[in-house]
Amino acid sequence: MPPSKREIYLLSPKKYSPEIIAVAFAKTSRSPETFRAIADELTEEASSQFHEKWVIGYGHSSVAEHAVLHLAIENASRLAMEAIESNRLASYTEKSTRYQKWDRDQFYCPPEILGSKFEERFDQICEYLFQTYLRSLEPAKKVVEAQVLRNEGESDENYDKRIRSRYVDACRFILPAASLANVGMTVNGRELESAIKKWLSSPLAEVREIGETVKAAAKAEVPTLLKYAEPQLSYQAMAEKITQLSGTLELPEEKQQACTLVASENEGEDRILASVLYRFGNMSFEQALKKIKDTTISNEISEVLFQNLEKFDVPLRELEHSTMTFDLVMDQGAYAEFKRHRMMSQTAQRLTCSNGYATPRLIVKAGFELDFQQAMGAAQLLWNELAEWNIDVAQYIVPNAFNRRVMATFNLREAFSFCQLRTAPNAHFSIRRIAQMMAVEVKRVYPVLSKYMRIYDEPWQQIELDHFESA
Ligand SMILES: Cc1cc2nc3c(=O)[nH]c(=O)nc-3n(C[C@H](O)[C@H](O)[C@H](O)COP(=O)(O)OP(=O)(O)OC[C@H]3O[C@@H](n4cnc5c(N)ncnc54)[C@H](O)[C@@H]3O)c2cc1C
Repeated sequence: MPPSKREIYLLSPKKYSPEIIAVAFAKTSRSPETFRAIADELTEEASSQFHEKWVIGYGHSSVAEHAVLHLAIENASRLAMEAIESNRLASYTEKSTRYQKWDRDQFYCPPEILGSKFEERFDQICEYLFQTYLRSLEPAKKVVEAQVLRNEGESDENYDKRIRSRYVDACRFILPAASLANVGMTVNGRELESAIKKWLSSPLAEVREIGETVKAAAKAEVPTLLKYAEPQLSYQAMAEKITQLSGTLELPEEKQQACTLVASENEGEDRILASVLYRFGNMSFEQALKKIKDTTISNEISEVLFQNLEKFDVPLRELEHSTMTFDLVMDQGAYAEFKRHRMMSQTAQRLTCSNGYATPRLIVKAGFELDFQQAMGAAQLLWNELAEWNIDVAQYIVPNAFNRRVMATFNLREAFSFCQLRTAPNAHFSIRRIAQMMAVEVKRVYPVLSKYMRIYDEPWQQIELDHFESA
């Protein structure tokens, strides 16, 4: 018999629905037919029955990963974006606070506040923050214009485009978490089901509404796969209980460092190098570990591992065999970017006004410091009252300048990816500062391997000096 010819082709979403594609792939497990033949035979009804039986009934959930959707979400608050973007196995692109400006009415008033005693003040303070943001743009731009010369014949528009992020980067500190944004999300059926469950269980009405709307919209494409996406009822009771418990634990006041390495593995570097030797050799892991103790061998392996990697090449997966845990404090603007590093395990605390705020140096140079402080003070006053009433809803009023605590655990491969990307000169100065601080610790824990991490030469102390009046 002649050997079967290799075939590679697309099952196009223009021809088949996402649920049919998912079933066509799932059926290859038992059917000798080609994918095309399986897909052509399938009807929406047969696919639905298959999913009911296998994905939902027997828990063969991975089948739903073959149904992919693209969701366009517009005018959700930046606070809701945190919930939307908290799903690791999805992809996102969001309106940038660095390359776009916000108009004065682009903020959200949450349903919990509408009709409450806080409605009027919430609106007033949001308007005040937006007006302050808009008023800050021109003086901050003037400072940048004095630093960056206009090219000959460059139009106003092109010049502004070139320098915009430099001044918007400082002005964005004033915008509250109620600011509206858009996000495009690409996600598979399995991850979307889990996302909807989380959204429907959120303490925020806005996020629950988004969960309902997404469920209804996505059902048009994947009716069966999302049928049973329901809230996880135990979540809210658990969150309330632990919030209460944590409030009863007395703690001395202390100012926390921006970057604290709270856990790392003593022999992490050896374990990574031994796993590389193990991958290409023929020995037990214990034997590989013994060989690595010889520094000539470990240096040689490190060099070979990295010497031919180009800028955007990814190092081997073996770098994942060792992790570190950080306790970090960063302004909310930086956190909004930090949270996008999906490969990390991140635990963020609620956004509050209780950890102080950062003042960008450009704001001071622009003669806008007093306005900035007054805006932060006004937001803080309202937050104090809102937090007593509903600590989750209070988050909406907190401006990007306020500090946020987040714990992050990740492996060395992710450390390379994060530190290289976020110390680059085109990254925002807030996240550059944190990335440089973290890189210092990475270098301490992995002295051999970190020599190959491409870190832009800009110590965090310099970033603080150049960009922060206070952090
Ligand atoms: C200059 C710049 C401008 C940016 N502008 C915007 C913007 O305007 N709007 C916006 O929303 N975001 C913006 N971002 C954020 C960016 O899109 C990423 O979300 C963010 O940097 C996280 O990076 P990551 O996906 O590499 O990290 P992680 O999620 O931690 O992933 C680490 C690595 O794992 C791999 N990986 C992870 N998930 C996948 C996947 N689903 N498929 C394939 N490989 C994967 C990749 O190799 C990735 O580098 C910008 C980033 C930079 C550096």
